[in-house]
Amino acid sequence: MASYNAPLREINFVLNDVLKVGRLSESIPAFADATPEVFAEMIETAAKFCEKELFPLSAPGDAQGCKRHPDGSVTLPDGFKEAFQKYAANGYVGLPNTSEYGGLGLPYTMAKVVEEMACSANVGFALFPGLTTGCFEAILANGNDAQKNTYLPRLGAGEWAGTMCLTEPQAGTDLGAVKTKAIPQPDGSFKLEGSKIFITSGEHDCTPNIVHFVLARVEGAPGGVKGLSTFVVPKLLINADGSLGARNPVTCAAIEHKMGIHGSCTCVMNFDGAAGTMIGKPGEGIMNMFVMMNLARILVGVQGLGQCELATQNAIRYALDRKQGKAFNGNATIADHPDVRRMLLTMKAVTEGARVLAYETGMYVDLAHHHPDEAVREEANDWVELNTPLVKGYCTDMAVELGSMAIQVYGGHGFIREHGVEQILRDSKILCLYEGTNGIQAMDLVRRKLFLNEGRAVARFFALVQKAAADAGSEFTFIAEPLKKALVDLEFATRWIHETFKAKPEEASFGCCDYLRAFSLVYLGYNWLRMAQAASLSDDASFKAAKLTTARFFASKLLTQVTPLCETVKSGSGDFMSLPATQLAA
Ligand SMILES: Cc1cc2nc3c(=O)[nH]c(=O)nc-3n(C[C@H](O)[C@H](O)[C@H](O)COP(=O)(O)OP(=O)(O)OC[C@H]3O[C@@H](n4cnc5c(N)ncnc54)[C@H](O)[C@@H]3O)c2cc1C
Repeated sequence: MASYNAPLREINFVLNDVLKVGRLSESIPAFADATPEVFAEMIETAAKFCEKELFPLSAPGDAQGCKRHPDGSVTLPDGFKEAFQKYAANGYVGLPNTSEYGGLGLPYTMAKVVEEMACSANVGFALFPGLTTGCFEAILANGNDAQKNTYLPRLGAGEWAGTMCLTEPQAGTDLGAVKTKAIPQPDGSFKLEGSKIFITSGEHDCTPNIVHFVLARVEGAPGGVKGLSTFVVPKLLINADGSLGARNPVTCAAIEHKMGIHGSCTCVMNFDGAAGTMIGKPGEGIMNMFVMMNLARILVGVQGLGQCELATQNAIRYALDRKQGKAFNGNATIADHPDVRRMLLTMKAVTEGARVLAYETGMYVDLAHHHPDEAVREEANDWVELNTPLVKGYCTDMAVELGSMAIQVYGGHGFIREHGVEQILRDSKILCLYEGTNGIQAMDLVRRKLFLNEGRAVARFFALVQKAAADAGSEFTFIAEPLKKALVDLEFATRWIHETFKAKPEEASFGCCDYLRAFSLVYLGYNWLRMAQAASLSDDASFKAAKLTTARFFASKLLTQVTPLCETVKSGSGDFMSLPATQLAA
């Protein structure tokens, strides 16, 4: 059986010793009470909840799955409904939401920590609150007062759940192809007609009402993305006094049978004249959707981080227990075989480095939204823009790689269901696909983020890493030197993309996933330098030794991958695109 212990020591180390999370309460008046002590207390309570309430439901939920009944209702695996209600009652759904609308008004960073633990414990479950938060953010950003007052207090408190209804059979990545129609009504509302597929939490019995955030085209609007608008469509209509009214004709036609996240219901949703109101202005649907999507991408990256942690800690625990043969050093567990040690250190180095990336991005969201100084907000916003594709793309790719590696560490036992690690691999793959596939994340980095504000964000990143490596001190040469080399290679690859992109976008885009990987590794190199420096001050000798050894491993075995990745990026598409696609099947 797999198990989960929230890595509190590590989480607190990253928050306090590496990222200095106290900066938030010191510099942002709205977070004056969110001191590091409050962080630690909240996280410890959430950790117990995730370990004791969510994790025990994960494997049974995977085995049982969701069920659609002939009347179109959907039930979740046993215990999920009660767990959602407790999760909401604890304030975790609305943790970062403004207290004006039912939230706790705490930092977004804290929400990311709680979400990481929830996603380690039970990622299928964690999608319910995740989508609810996304729906809340979309209405908060562009809804009118009536919409905010009707929906936000209930979504913010987790009393109702939310969805995001974008995808249609012909419109996946290309949302400009969305066909769902919104027909204007005399009272200013709309009736929605069409069918959406793959809708997470589209129908369930967790909450009395479900709020759908829908991308659709007003009848007669132009084709493509310019004709799209966003709408809010409740499952049950809401009476003038706020009570729940008649059933709106938005129904679940089927649920998908999937590779993983069986505890999450993925629904085909039919809108048969369902009543809704427009969120924001006509034709601004894609823009409104991205308000939600950008934060949702960070959340999906955190889902990946949660799965990386689960894979890593189970692999280490298993390896320390499993005896096979005699290792070269005479010890008997598989953790002392060099190849297994390599895998365990890879998992540790990736997970711990990725945690700094994800939490730091969370801190930038807090600074971008709440810092009193406009210049700080602007800089933080640049960081959020740059980091979002890295968090989403890297953390989720790594969840799949580490999920596979965990199985490798377990040997054949990893392939057997009862050990619980094959579920990590199955649950993780979707993270690379939804909220924009990881290919789309890499293109976002190469095509948009590198060029944003004349490349201001990326130039700032390069300068920061260069300075950190130059100032590192002789004790940390082991990582500062490879970091400098990796940075130079990344800068050359970036310059090559800048020079190539305008004339030959295809050439520059071919290696975008390699570029995202190289960029992420340099970011993690910077994280490992900071972790090594912070750990060197620790009184805990075994923690310090483990951190410094892992930092050395990262520097010599993973950071060195940047150079060949950058070479691949710069080799472009060659003549690979000139072969007619149909000949790939020859
Ligand atoms: C379990 C699950 C839950 C989901 N939940 C939701 C949800 O709650 N709400 C919702 O609206 N949707 C949801 N989705 C849909 C999901 O967001 C889409 O599947 C995803 O956006 C990709 O679309 P697609 O599957 O049509 O793939 P396609 O768009 O057909 O992509 C196929 C491949 O082509 C690549 N590709 C496509 N276009 C380009 C391009 N322009 N440039 C380069 N490469 C490209 C992609 O990267 C991918 O590798 C969910 C899907 C699943 C499986």
